[in-house]
Amino acid sequence: GFGDFLAKRMKRSMEKNIAKSTLNQENIQETLREIRLALLEADVNIDVAKELISKIKEKAIGGYIEEGASSQQQLLKIVHSELMDILGKEVAPLNLSKKPTIIMMVGLQGSGKTTSASKLAYYLSKKQAKKPLLVGLDIYRPGAIDQLVELGKKINIPVFEKQKQNPLKTAKQAIEFAEKNNHDLIILDTAGRLQIDKELMNELNDLRKTTSPQEILLVVDGMVGQEIINVTNEFNNQLKLTGVIVTKLDGDARGGATLSIRHMTKLPIKFIGEGEGFAALAPFYPKRMADRILGMGDIETLFEKVVENVDERSIQKTMKRMFMGQFDLEDLRNQLVQVSKMGNIGGLMKMIPGAKISENQIEESQRKLVVFSILMSSMTLKERREPKLLKSLSRKSRIISGSGRSEKELNELINSFEKGKKQVLEMGKQMKSGRMPNFGG
Ligand code: GDP
Repeated sequence: GFGDFLAKRMKRSMEKNIAKSTLNQENIQETLREIRLALLEADVNIDVAKELISKIKEKAIGGYIEEGASSQQQLLKIVHSELMDILGKEVAPLNLSKKPTIIMMVGLQGSGKTTSASKLAYYLSKKQAKKPLLVGLDIYRPGAIDQLVELGKKINIPVFEKQKQNPLKTAKQAIEFAEKNNHDLIILDTAGRLQIDKELMNELNDLRKTTSPQEILLVVDGMVGQEIINVTNEFNNQLKLTGVIVTKLDGDARGGATLSIRHMTKLPIKFIGEGEGFAALAPFYPKRMADRILGMGDIETLFEKVVENVDERSIQKTMKRMFMGQFDLEDLRNQLVQVSKMGNIGGLMKMIPGAKISENQIEESQRKLVVFSILMSSMTLKERREPKLLKSLSRKSRIISGSGRSEKELNELINSFEKGKKQVLEMGKQMKSGRMPNFGG
């Protein structure tokens, strides 16, 4: 996949010169030349490669690297931090604060726009508990709207479409429909073209003015190479994009062009597509990418993929705190982390013997789990340790705006927590009086 080509090539150039020796002024120069070649071979834009190398050089030769045993590690660190800089440093999140949030997807035909629209809807429904509405506005490409309808069926997300109607009118109706039906997210799948033309840009601009989207995401095909920079710049000039989604990075794309997007267009890459399945869309993490390119192993991604076993000791510790009445939101949050490590909650609930739980209930619990986690992430540690503090209105409204969730959802969390705490205390008393078996150390 993406980054692997460059990773291999970089590793080779680093090893060639510095594996056996420590770094000195001479072999640093030679290593930098090799790194530059590796970047160009990986299809990194030449200006980006030059700038990257000159920054590394400045630090490496400017006395930051001391000759000696750790010199290799030091160079690696410098290259890593400069790579992250080029890639944008931080994850660029979507702006989901407005309700409903409108995301407009644009791109050339075949870039993966329609597929990505449905993947994004799926991702945000699972990870952010959003209730999306997909809107098919490509009335020109034969079958485009049918394709979206099919995708929507598979992921259980409704698609609003009017095959033979002006897309502007359809978009307006879709927004009304979304508001009536409590959709908090609208994803517009706009028309594509084989090439950028005036007519397309006019239509997209009209749509932009009519719908005022919070996000305008350009979908580009990662296999295309350097040309994606020009395409991105042109779309950006016309439409003021908010970010880019790069698709097909699971193929043998060399990836260097992707690495150049941020630097050459100043636009963040927000998501990458790495396969045809619904789940094959992930936020773009500059740090992980820099790790991967330097062959440091994509530790976070691996960590996420491995289904971790529950940490028994931490559960026992939590149980003790629970029964002693010390249970707080920080404990609850840690528990949710444990639960989510075990995979999806539906599977867990089905493992409870004798429990009859409907798919709807499972879905609702899954949704709550996500919403509660998001809310708790927006609290300070102190607030989680002392949930009393949440009575303050200013704290409440800060958490609500920070998390993009509603007051109702925050109250729901606080109420569930208080109720749960009472039940647990009651259980603790019963256990002490011998009416229940003692479990948990
Ligand atoms: P659109 O014309 O831009 O709407 O493009 P589509 O969404 O129809 O995608 C074009 C083709 O690319 C389809 O066959 C998709 O399955 C495929 N595709 C989209 N994203 C990816 C990806 O990340 N990886 C792979 N391997 N294929 C993708």
